[in-house]
Amino acid sequence: MLVLRPGRERSLALRHPWVFSGAVDRVIGDPGTGDTVAIVDADGAWRATAAYSPASQIRARVWSFAAGATIDEAFIRGAVDRAAAARAPLLDARHTAARLVHGESDALPGVIADRYGDTVVLQCLSAGAERWRAALVAALAAAPGVRCVYERSDADVRALEGLPPRTGPLAGELPPEVLIAEDGIAYRVDPVAGQKTGFFLDQRENRRLVRDLARGRRTLNVFCYTGGFTLAALAGGAAAVTSIDSSADALALARENLARNPALPAAAAAWVEADAFADLRRLRNEGATFDLVVLDPPKFAPTAAHAARAARAYKDVNLLALKLLAPGGLLLTFSCSGGIGADLFRRIVAGAALDAGADAQVLRTLGATADHPVALAFPEGEYLKGLVIRKV
Ligand code: SAH
Repeated sequence: MLVLRPGRERSLALRHPWVFSGAVDRVIGDPGTGDTVAIVDADGAWRATAAYSPASQIRARVWSFAAGATIDEAFIRGAVDRAAAARAPLLDARHTAARLVHGESDALPGVIADRYGDTVVLQCLSAGAERWRAALVAALAAAPGVRCVYERSDADVRALEGLPPRTGPLAGELPPEVLIAEDGIAYRVDPVAGQKTGFFLDQRENRRLVRDLARGRRTLNVFCYTGGFTLAALAGGAAAVTSIDSSADALALARENLARNPALPAAAAAWVEADAFADLRRLRNEGATFDLVVLDPPKFAPTAAHAARAARAYKDVNLLALKLLAPGGLLLTFSCSGGIGADLFRRIVAGAALDAGADAQVLRTLGATADHPVALAFPEGEYLKGLVIRKV
């Protein structure tokens, strides 16, 4: 049992699922890593049932706010089934991939499960998720049409929980090629060596947006990874697409993905293996201009502690992008940093526009979507914040 300090039950009362170490007055009993603990407030009133994580600053993550909840296989199975059922409408003949489990936002803290065709890639990123791995795998493997569950629990955040990285098959056998369709476009996903689970499913609606905006536009896709926005822009009739990434492997798969879609004009695509910051400067020095720029960088600020350095990186890259934009051009700019909130991100981009000498309008703010819901009481986490900017 965890007893909270006086007044520290407030965020739990608002259904925020984390208990930080500083909020804990004392631990009664001797719970181990991942064990289920009751959380009570300073008056002894029961607050939640949570997973204990002694190594982490996030000392406990709530499984349930319901009085008397029991955490067992059936509980995990119920939560996975509910999450998977909510995403079922996202899957059809044109879309064979979707995130099934969104961690805290699906009441499964630290659990991410991405479905790619008949394969599910699982990330157990917290002590509680680690503890219930077998139940998670059983529940995911039982979802209709799933043949394989593969683990990619090798994200850095595992270290904060005192957990070693773990990868490999958990149920069934990984097919030799994991192929998906998104919006009718074919991609190969690499769950073994790709980033995170292999594909950035949280960008699905934004790839659709790029497809809708791209017609006739000279497009620049910075941090292109395996070509998601590039192929979307080409499908939308972009005049040409230049794509930059520093990873040769990502670019090789991006080219392969383009080749998998013979209806798309491969000749309109240029691929650049380079550091984005240096290459944007090169393009600027060459006087290049674009009508549509997509900026989807890696997480510069995993936590608030990295916010200042990350803010400079976001500002730099947005400044360079805005300089490359022709008047009337559009910038889709994203941050997936947990340490940079939506308001701060907007201020950083506004500062970049000012320094670029550009007048700019926000046409849309991008955030939680049906593909990537965020619990109302849980604004933290690596959810995507985005802006569509028009250079005046
Ligand atoms: N937009 C992509 C996801 C981007 S992930 C999509 O929709 O699929 C971030 C990418 O940035 C990775 O592919 C990584 O290789 C690349 N990257 C990281 N640092 C970089 C740098 N300094 N310059 C160029 N690319 C970089």
